[in-house]
Amino acid sequence: FSSQTPITATLFPGDGIGPEIAESVKQVFKAAEIPIKWEEHYIGTEIDPRTQSFLTWESLESVRCNKVGLKGPMATPIGKGHRSLNLTMRKELNLYANVRPCCSLPGYKTRYDNVNLVTIRENTEGEYSGLEHQVVRGVVESLKIITRSASLRVAEYAFHYAKANDRERVSAIHKANIMQKTDGLFLECCREVAEKYPEIKYEEVIIDNCCMMLVKNPTLFDVLVMPNLYGDIISDLCAGLIGGLGLTPSCNIGEGGIALAEAVHGSAPDIAGKNMANPTALLLSSVMMLRHLNLNEKANQIQNAIIGTIADGKYRTADLSGSSSTTEFTNAICDNL
Ligand code: NAD
Repeated sequence: FSSQTPITATLFPGDGIGPEIAESVKQVFKAAEIPIKWEEHYIGTEIDPRTQSFLTWESLESVRCNKVGLKGPMATPIGKGHRSLNLTMRKELNLYANVRPCCSLPGYKTRYDNVNLVTIRENTEGEYSGLEHQVVRGVVESLKIITRSASLRVAEYAFHYAKANDRERVSAIHKANIMQKTDGLFLECCREVAEKYPEIKYEEVIIDNCCMMLVKNPTLFDVLVMPNLYGDIISDLCAGLIGGLGLTPSCNIGEGGIALAEAVHGSAPDIAGKNMANPTALLLSSVMMLRHLNLNEKANQIQNAIIGTIADGKYRTADLSGSSSTTEFTNAICDNL
C-alpha cells in the first residue's frame, strides 16, 4: 500500500477501558496523519442467532472484507446460551495464530533490560476446543484436540515470521514426554516445517523447563511456537518480564490474510471510565497493524513517540507508577510524534 491510499480497517473499541484506549489510538493516528479510515463496530446488546453471540454477523463480515482491524478488550456477559466474544471471533474468523512480541521498553526499568522475544500461540484448538462433559457424577472430562492441519499451519507461520523478521531461532514448546500423542503430533509438524527452513535454528523445549529458563534468562529465547494453553500462559509470563499487561501488544493472524491486532489485557473493569488506563498496549498493537500493512515509516514514528514518552518519565499512567491520565499521556505522545 502507498502511504497515501486510505485503507479501511475495522475497529472494535470493546468493553471497559476499551473505548478510552481506542480513543487514544484514533487521536494518535489523526495526529500522525495515518491513511486509515476506521469502520467502527460495537458489541450488540442482543444475541445474534447467526453467530450465537453478542457479536453480530455484520461485525465479522467487516473484518472478513477489510482483512485488517484493531480490537479492544471484550468482556463476555455472564449467562448461558451464547458463546464468548473472543472465542466467537477466533473461531468464525479462523484466527489461527496469536503473535506477541515482547521487547523491553527503553526507559522503563524492569528486572531485565534486554528482553526481545516473540511468542506464537496456536489459537484454535488444544484444551480450548470447548469439549468438556461429565462422565459420571464426580468425574468430568475435557478433550484436548491437536490436529495435523492446525499444527502445520501455526508452525509454518512461526518459521515464516522468523525468516521475515530476521530472527535466528524457533523453539517449539511442549510436554510431549507426558502427552505423547497430542504434543507429539505438534512436534512432528514443527520438525517437518523446520526442515524447509534450514537457515533458522530449531529446538524443542519442555514447557516447565521453558518457564524456568524464561524467568532466569529471557535472552535464551527468540521465537517460541506452542499449542494454545501453553501459549496463553507463557505469553502472559513474557508480558510480566517487560512491565505488565498495559504494555504488551499482539496480533491475530487468520485465514485468507486477515490480521486483527489486539491488546493482551482485558477490559480492566476496576479502572474503566476513570481516564486512568494505559493505552500503550493497544497503541503498540495498532503499530503491529501498520507493519502488517507495510506502513513501516508511520509505524516507527508512532512507536518512537510512545517509547520516547515513557522514557521521558514526565507523563506516565498509574500502572507505570505515574500520575498522568490516559488523555495527558496520549497528548504527550502526540506532541512527541
Ligand atoms: P484485566 O486485564 O482486565 O485486568 C487485570 C489487571 O490489570 C487489573 O488490575 C487492571 O486494572 C489492570 N490493567 C489491564 N489493562 C490495563 C491497562 N491498559 N492500563 C492499566 N491497567 C490495566 O483482566 P481481568 O480483570 O482478569 O479481566 C477483566 C475482563 O476482561 C473479563 O471479563 C475477561 O473475560 C476480559 N478479558 C478479555 C480479554 C480480551 O478481550 N482479549 C483478555 C483478557 C480478559
